[in-house]
Amino acid sequence: MSDHLLSQLSALQAVVAADCQILHDSQDPEFQKRLARWTDIDRKVPAAIVLPRSEEDCVKTSSIPFVAKSGGHSPWSTIGAEGFIIDLTLYSDVRVNPDGTATIVGGILAKQVSVCLAEAGLFTALGNGNSVGAIPYFLGGGGSITNSITGFGSDQILIEVTEETRSDLLWAVKGAGQFFGLITQLTVRTHSLSALRKQQGLVWVGAFVYPLDRAAEVVPVMKQIMDDPRHATAGLMMAIAPPPARTPSLVVSARYTGDEAPEVPFKALYDLQPVATTGRDLPIQNVSDDREALCAKGDFKRFGLVGLHEFSVEAFLQATEVWKRLIHECPDAINTTFNVQWDSRPVKTPERESAMSSHDIRYWQVNIIWHTDVKNRRKTRYVDFQNATRTGPIQRRYRGEARLKKLRQLKRVWDAQGVFTRQLLD
Ligand SMILES: Cc1cc2nc3c(=O)[nH]c(=O)nc-3n(C[C@H](O)[C@H](O)[C@H](O)COP(=O)(O)OP(=O)(O)OC[C@H]3O[C@@H](n4cnc5c(N)ncnc54)[C@H](O)[C@@H]3O)c2cc1C
Repeated sequence: MSDHLLSQLSALQAVVAADCQILHDSQDPEFQKRLARWTDIDRKVPAAIVLPRSEEDCVKTSSIPFVAKSGGHSPWSTIGAEGFIIDLTLYSDVRVNPDGTATIVGGILAKQVSVCLAEAGLFTALGNGNSVGAIPYFLGGGGSITNSITGFGSDQILIEVTEETRSDLLWAVKGAGQFFGLITQLTVRTHSLSALRKQQGLVWVGAFVYPLDRAAEVVPVMKQIMDDPRHATAGLMMAIAPPPARTPSLVVSARYTGDEAPEVPFKALYDLQPVATTGRDLPIQNVSDDREALCAKGDFKRFGLVGLHEFSVEAFLQATEVWKRLIHECPDAINTTFNVQWDSRPVKTPERESAMSSHDIRYWQVNIIWHTDVKNRRKTRYVDFQNATRTGPIQRRYRGEARLKKLRQLKRVWDAQGVFTRQLLD
């Protein structure tokens, strides 16, 4: 650690509360535990990890070069010996307010929010990953299976104080919030569980499994289901080799929020006689539990998310060929999945325009490259993520020249030094 950082560290230690832990021994098991991330790609070791328990300590810490970490699922909550990580794990809370909104605090995770809301008969837009940090999810846009009922995660953000006085900043926070500051608390919209299946907050969760070599037969049938807005279906169609048999398969991981029997919206899939099917009604807060394995920390993983206006059967079939090649060439990449995420109904139109520019997107290509052998880092790179909506060029993420211009102007006002990344400055 440089002398300068060392003196900043001592100064910080003197001003934060006694219960604000500061870890600086990188060999300490606690330090190692806090350093775990969803992906080990480019994971760096910081000079220190600070664990504030209050908003005041978050503010005091931010005088030092830092990155914030909530759930640790992005490739960005990492910094080298030149700075600190502010790990928000111990500063986290969620509460339902008397007006029915919810306040989420610090490093609270998606599952903790959905459980708390369900206890109050409520839900909000939350994604597939139980251990994803709720605040970064909302700030970054936030897609979920309830997009058509709730809108995106960013559409839920309400900031009472700034709604009138700092409306431009609120506009930017909804979709680009992680580039504008460390958000200690967010107030978000909630919705009654009665908007979901059987008015009980239920979601039908099922899977249809076919051998991958039947993809040319199954995918066109799926396209019809994806394009049929009469039934409120959503989910993922995946090229995957699920454990334990690891047989290359086409798995439709389906969700249904309507009231009819699942045999109605998914009749065509049952008629194709899958090798296995599962299905049950689950409370919304438990819907992502079967995807916990995807949230595991460690290994080399990349998340490629590309927004699509049309779903092309041919493009998906080609993608399954790329997937097969990758698994064949790199057996350690067996956990890799190529997926398309659909919602049969359009995203709810937001009340206000914001930095989030994906409301017209119908489908998402969601590919997860996941391998364990460092020697295959280069080989797995041939999968092209240049078009990725979140990790690719900023122009893909914030579409429209006027939107990007406004974001760049606001960045110069609120973070001219690039404390919260150089995105939108360079
Ligand atoms: C398995 C998996 C499933 C996913 N499912 C979905 C999904 O269904 N829908 C969807 O939209 N996205 C999904 N994502 C993407 C996920 O929402 C984003 O990657 C999100 O940014 C991760 O948040 P985190 O807190 O877990 O990560 P972190 O790495 O801790 O944080 C993410 C970013 O936000 C910054 N940050 C952290 N806390 C704060 C804060 N309080 N204020 C400001 N900035 C902060 C970090 O510095 C970093 O840049 C998924 C990702 C994974 C790995």
